[in-house]
Amino acid sequence: KANLLEKQSKAVYESAIRDPLTGLFTRLYMQDAVLKMLEEHSQKKLDEVSLVLFDVDKFKRFNDTYGHDLGDKVLAQIAAVILEQVRKDDVPIRFGGEELMVFLPAGLTSCYSLAERVRNKVEALEIMVNDEVVTVTISGGLAEHKEGEDVDHLIKRADLMLYQAKERGRNQNVSEQDVSEQDVSE
Ligand code: GH3
Ligand code: MG
Ligand code: MG
Repeated sequence: KANLLEKQSKAVYESAIRDPLTGLFTRLYMQDAVLKMLEEHSQKKLDEVSLVLFDVDKFKRFNDTYGHDLGDKVLAQIAAVILEQVRKDDVPIRFGGEELMVFLPAGLTSCYSLAERVRNKVEALEIMVNDEVVTVTISGGLAEHKEGEDVDHLIKRADLMLYQAKERGRNQNVSEQDVSEQDVSE
């Protein structure tokens, strides 16, 4: 008798860490994979860890114009692009409603190239509404983990960069390398 209880607990865990709409991991999973990744960086087992935080541009207006159901479908399509672009050890998470993020065991250069691949593919999605094609864009904020830094602080820094991307007109990725201190304190 294979341990039924163990199998059941595993199934419950699997369903708790996967978001049904997007197929991305849930926030709960951060407690496992992401904390482990940050710890390994702090212990110098990993050279670099970085984060990109994506947010759909003007998504409220999209929902208001085309309906929440289509909004959900678009969110699932954006997540599919992310899942197709990430590598094996990257951790893609649905952080909030329309906020999706990826932790990478790599530095800002790799993170930026992933973010740009995702942004370009999302921009190229052709969403059919009756006979009309509509498009959607995303913005991203990038930050690199500092040894010993906790996950909330890292997310906060990525969020500041996301704010800059929105300020600069959306449909772009911004990392700390692109931003002077003056921009952030403004
Ligand atoms: P910005 O470019 O500044 O991000 O504008 P925004 O309208 O996207 O930002 P705001 O935070 O004002 O609104 C986020 C919207 O995302 C509001 C909410 O209805 C929508 N949203 C959040 N989660 C979901 C979801 O799961 N499905 C759908 N369809 N919409 C969602
Ligand atoms: Mg938002
Ligand atoms: Mg938004």
